[in-house]
Amino acid sequence: MGDYLLVIDAGTTSTRAMLFAPGGACLDTEQRDVVQHYPAPGLVEHDAEEIRDSSLACARAVAARAGGAGRIAAIGITNQRETIVFWSRRTGRALAPAIVWQDRRTADMCGAWKATGHEPLVQGRTGLLLDPYFSASKIAWALEHWPELREAGDDLAVGTVESWLVYCLTGGLHITDATNASRTALMDIGAGRWDHDLLGLFGVPAYALPEIVDCAGAFGETRLFGAPIPISGMAGDQQAAAIGQACLAPGDTKATYGTGAFVLAHTGAQKPISHHRLLSTIAWQLGGRRAYALEGSVFVAGSLIKWLRDDLGLLTSASESEALARSVADNGGVYLVPALAGLGAPHWRPEARAAISGLSFASGRAHIVRAALEAMAYQTHDLMTAFAADGAGWERLKVDGGMVANDWLAQDLADMLDLDVERPHFVETTALGAAMLAGVGCGLFASLEEAAAMRGAVERFEPAMPPDLRQARLGGWAKALRPVLA
Ligand code: ADP
Repeated sequence: MGDYLLVIDAGTTSTRAMLFAPGGACLDTEQRDVVQHYPAPGLVEHDAEEIRDSSLACARAVAARAGGAGRIAAIGITNQRETIVFWSRRTGRALAPAIVWQDRRTADMCGAWKATGHEPLVQGRTGLLLDPYFSASKIAWALEHWPELREAGDDLAVGTVESWLVYCLTGGLHITDATNASRTALMDIGAGRWDHDLLGLFGVPAYALPEIVDCAGAFGETRLFGAPIPISGMAGDQQAAAIGQACLAPGDTKATYGTGAFVLAHTGAQKPISHHRLLSTIAWQLGGRRAYALEGSVFVAGSLIKWLRDDLGLLTSASESEALARSVADNGGVYLVPALAGLGAPHWRPEARAAISGLSFASGRAHIVRAALEAMAYQTHDLMTAFAADGAGWERLKVDGGMVANDWLAQDLADMLDLDVERPHFVETTALGAAMLAGVGCGLFASLEEAAAMRGAVERFEPAMPPDLRQARLGGWAKALRPVLA
C-alpha cells in the first residue's frame, strides 16, 4: 500500500482531485468545471452523471500520475452540501437532475410549513431552519413533480453528492456521512439518525435514504482505478474546511471567504442550540461520537468583488481591489451593504436588497471598492456578535478561501474583530480536511489531532486599530444596514 491520500472535492462550480503526501504537501491537482443549469429563475440544477464522470476522470488522472492506484493509501471525499441526487439502485443511473443548494424552487413550500408552525420541530431536531437551502424540501418537491421518482418505488436511491459518488465508486454502497446528513433537515442531529417525524413531514420514504456513517473509517473500496483503494474519509465542504483548519477544540473557529462566507465554530460534544438564528450542525462523527458546531452563512462575499469587476467594471481583476483599498486613507463615508441575494445569517432576510450609501462628489471608485472589502469585516462582526450571544465566543479566527489572498482584507478583519486572524500558507483547507479524515480512516493517523500536523505553517494578522476608529466604523455600518433591513 502506498501512503498518498487522494481527495475528490466535488464543489459547486468545479470538481477536483488532489494528491496529498501524509506530511500535508499537495503534490498534484486535476480540475473540471461543473456545468450550471438554470432552467428558470431561482432554479439551479446539476447533471449528477457529469459530476460522477468528472470526479472519476480527475481521480483517474491524478492516480495515474502518482504511479498507479497501488501508491494510494486511501480516498477522501468532500462535496458541495445540501445538493441532492436521485438515482436507480438497479442501473446506477441518475433518474432526475440534481437539485443544487442554491435552488429556491421550494420557497413557497417552506413558507407554508413555516406558516403551519413546523419550524420549531425542524430547528429542534436538525439545528436548521425551514429554508429551501436544505435538502428535505427539494426531495419533497422532486417526489411531487417528477413521477419517474415515485414510479421507481424501492429502486429509488436518494443522497447528497458524497453519497452518490461512493455509490458509483463502490458499485452499490449506499451511505452518507453524518456531516452531510446533518444538512438534509431530515436528521435528528442529537440522536444521529433519520428522524421519523421529519420523514413524515417532508414525505421522504426511508427506504430511499442512505445509511448514516462516521466521517472516517473503512467504508468500502473502489476498483475503478486499477488496484483496490479504500474510501476512508467523507465530510461536507465547510466541515472539511474546519477540520483542515484544525478547529478541533471548543471555541476554534474558521471563516471561509469564497463566493459566500461560511463561519463554523466548534462547540464540543453537546448539541448547541442557537437563539440568534445561527445553525447547529455536526462538525464530524468518529467512532459513533459526534462533535458539533454553530454555523453562520453569509451569501455574498467574493461574488461582490466579481460583481464590481464583471458588471460594474470598477475593477480589472479581483486582486486589484487590494491596491485600490490601500490607495485611499479611509472609506470616505461610503458603506456598501452587499444584500445582492438577500441577507443570510444572522438576519435571514431573503427579500433584502443591497445599498451603497454615503456617496458624494468626493467619492471615487476606490472608496466603493474599499467599502466592498470593509463589508466582509462588518458582516463577520455581526456573526461574531451572534456567536458570542449563543455562548460561542471566538478567541481568534482562522481564515481561508479565495478572498483572503487579499492582505488588506485579512488585516481589516483583525482590526474590526479585534482578534488575531490566522491564515494558513496552504489555503485549500477543504481538500486538506478530507485528506486528514481519509488518513485517520485508513489508519495512517491515530487521531484528527495527529492528522492536524498536515495543516503546516500559518501567518498571523494582529489587531492594530484604535478602538474609537473601530467604533466609528461599526456605527457607520449599523446606520447603513438599518434601511436595508427596514
Ligand atoms: P469558491 O470556492 O466559492 O468558488 P474561491 O474560494 O475560489 O471561491 O474564491 C473566489 C472568490 O474570491 C471570487 O469571488 C473572487 O471575486 C474573490 N477574490 C479572489 N481574489 C481576491 C482578492 N485578491 N481580493 C478580493 N477578492 C478576491
